[in-house]
Amino acid sequence: MTSTIIINPATGEKIAEYDRITLNQAKEKIAQSRKIYDSWKQKTFEERAKLMHQLADVLDVNKEEYAQLATKEMGKTIGQSRKEIEKCALVCRYYADYSKGLLADEIVKTEATKSYVTFQPFGVILAVMPWNFPFYQVIRFAAPALMAGNTGVLKHASNVQGCAFALEDAFTKAGFPTGTFTNLNIDSKLVKDIIEDKNIVAVTLTGSEPAGRSVASIAGQNLKKTVMELGGSDAYIILDDVDLEEATDLAILGRLQNNGQTCIAAKRFVVLDKIYDDFLALFTKKMKAAKMGEPTDEATYYGPMARTDLRDQLHEQVLKTVAQGGRLVLGGEIPDRNGAYYPATILADLEPGMEGFDNELFGPVASVIRAKDEAHAVDLANNSVFGLGSGVFTGNKERGERLALQLEAGSSFVNKLVVSDPRLPFGGIKNSGYGRELAAYGIREFVNTKTIWIN
Ligand code: NAP
Repeated sequence: MTSTIIINPATGEKIAEYDRITLNQAKEKIAQSRKIYDSWKQKTFEERAKLMHQLADVLDVNKEEYAQLATKEMGKTIGQSRKEIEKCALVCRYYADYSKGLLADEIVKTEATKSYVTFQPFGVILAVMPWNFPFYQVIRFAAPALMAGNTGVLKHASNVQGCAFALEDAFTKAGFPTGTFTNLNIDSKLVKDIIEDKNIVAVTLTGSEPAGRSVASIAGQNLKKTVMELGGSDAYIILDDVDLEEATDLAILGRLQNNGQTCIAAKRFVVLDKIYDDFLALFTKKMKAAKMGEPTDEATYYGPMARTDLRDQLHEQVLKTVAQGGRLVLGGEIPDRNGAYYPATILADLEPGMEGFDNELFGPVASVIRAKDEAHAVDLANNSVFGLGSGVFTGNKERGERLALQLEAGSSFVNKLVVSDPRLPFGGIKNSGYGRELAAYGIREFVNTKTIWIN
């Protein structure tokens, strides 16, 4: 039997070890989940909502414990870990309160005596999840899926297994029947066999593009529905009518929150020529002043990356970009200290064809790009294989909206960093994936949209 070893990325020290389960054990848990599904799907929305509200309460009560665990396992600053748990409770309450309405039958007038569309659950959903929001990503899938009457099994990222077990325990404490939500501590090599299991009806994956391609193709071979929430290289256009103080404040937060490891982080800053030098100077000053440090220290602005291998991979991307002609303005050196730290780094004058322009930089490294004018800025922003989030910073909202509508992405925000909000759909286009989470769109991904016709 193999095990998962958890390393604290702030210190490099081993903090826990969990035995992985075998394929047969995983299949038994999935069979149990399938069995529970038969009774779970019969419950009313009110019965499910009661448990979902209780889950929100469990998250509130245990917020500090869960936040400390997330910080210890993946290095997020403690304040941001607490906010993550609060957001999980918010999403649970949103779906507890609104699922019944979001999945209400839709009467359609036809020549039938009665015809309507009804939304019925699918069965057991497999969720393959990443470490960067170890609680929130899971809740974002589980709250709507379970409220719709499905059950869920989780294959979480190996480095946050403590969070995966804590989540399973939270569902139990909230009173969900055993098997409604189950953690499968398996090696990712077993995901193929799990997808092929007859009891799994659909798969949702949040993670990198390669993992998405692999899981989507296996599910496709088995004709099982998927939702893919993959990486991004979000562009933010900085127009020349902007307040530079405000724009650079947003830019710092957008690039450094979650230690630079957010799918919808601001990664490429496309700045109009007229203000390019001023933006870069102020942005550099503020990035330099941001305090890197222990994630448990409340004064820390950004902590370590989640793993040293990911940090080393990011550093290689920085070196490659510089070798291709990118200008290193700040950072770019691995610090001499334990842990997976990487300093706030700025790469300027980037162009298509350079690593920092073309690929996702999943860490505290900003790509700054010069645009001749508005149309050029839109072209540069859209010149990406990804299409997750995007934004425009401007002093003119109408101008911002006009550009936002031209950006190829799942969401475009004006004068605000892209956030996920349970009331609005979230997801990407192009290599950032397909399908949507949150709002009505999210809960309708894993239901049978069924036509009923009565004569
Ligand atoms: P990852 O390496 O793709 O891992 C994600 C999950 O997939 C983990 O549970 C991982 O398990 C598993 N996995 C990896 N390769 C697999 C394979 N070939 N077959 C089956 N499962 C596989 O991604 P990550 O490093 O955890 O997360 C970072 C990426 O996620 C970034 O690209 C980020 O942009 C993206 N992301 C997207 C969203 C969104 O909503 N669009 C949100 C958050 C993150 P192991 O840990 O055991 O390898």
